[in-house]
Amino acid sequence: MRVLITGGAGFIGSHLTDRFLRENHCVIGVDNLITGNTRNIAHLVGHEKYTFVRQDVTHYLYFDKQIDAVLHFASPASPVDYLKYPIQTLKVGALGTHNALGLAMAKGARFLLASTSEVYGDPLQHPQREDYAGNVDPIGPRGVYDEAKRYAEALTMAYHRQHGLDTRIVRIFNTYGPRMRLDDGRVVPNLIGQALRGEPLTVYGDGRQTRSFQYISDLVEGVYRLLMSDFSEPVNIGTTEEMSILDFAQHVSVLTGSGAGIVLKADDRVVGDPQTRRPDISRAKAVLNWSPQVTLSEGLPPTVEYFRQILTSS
Ligand code: UDP
Repeated sequence: MRVLITGGAGFIGSHLTDRFLRENHCVIGVDNLITGNTRNIAHLVGHEKYTFVRQDVTHYLYFDKQIDAVLHFASPASPVDYLKYPIQTLKVGALGTHNALGLAMAKGARFLLASTSEVYGDPLQHPQREDYAGNVDPIGPRGVYDEAKRYAEALTMAYHRQHGLDTRIVRIFNTYGPRMRLDDGRVVPNLIGQALRGEPLTVYGDGRQTRSFQYISDLVEGVYRLLMSDFSEPVNIGTTEEMSILDFAQHVSVLTGSGAGIVLKADDRVVGDPQTRRPDISRAKAVLNWSPQVTLSEGLPPTVEYFRQILTSS
């Protein structure tokens, strides 16, 4: 297959690229590099089956070669990033998704949308199943991302139902691993970066809010299986290993041997910060025979090592 991945120089996009190349497919990566980084694809320079195109996918996409699958992963995705780029975030979810769907239509390609657990907002159902419609404030600070992805899902299903386009929707839960940006503001790079610099670890609010952190290789496997399946309804991909942010900070502190402690920053609690998040993954298990394989204790050490290298080389 020839696969086009938007957001191809991002954290997830670059790992997906590696996976498709390993399976001997050709990959075209498209990225405008506002939050992606060529460092993530530097190892692919000269690879005969890889092409990189620097382009903003909110502008018209044209490729003369045949494309068999379009994977739409372009978007700022951390709260700090999408608050910095609110309009780009809305545009890439709306116009970018429209262009990517149009490209898939023109090529007769399969289309896969990277959606998010954020479509559930601050959930009133726990754990979150795919049939839960969510609790999102359209004009809250996270609305720019949440609503962009909700619109992107609606558009994807409209192309599926109206045009019979072969589509997939993955709802991605918190994912971490090497190639995350140290300064993307998320809890994983923030806390590991602080620990490695000998600074106190900042926990927002009371630290009792929960997240479920899945390792990047599990996500890549889930996305790959979903693309190869024939299932067009949304599928949650995430781990069920849920913990409070305070527990997560303690984990990082012990693993890194950080002596600087943890500070609770009650005032830094972000408005609209979801209080709980854990996927119900029965659908992924039933449809894709997928379940997460990597525990936090296994996934954190290579992630810490990656950030250590970034810090010492910068
Ligand atoms: N958080 C924190 N300290 C930080 C960064 C984030 O306590 O330095 C909290 C944040 O308030 C949220 C959780 O960690 O409750 C996860 O935040 P993140 O930005 O990683 O992503 P989210 O899951 O909210 O999209």
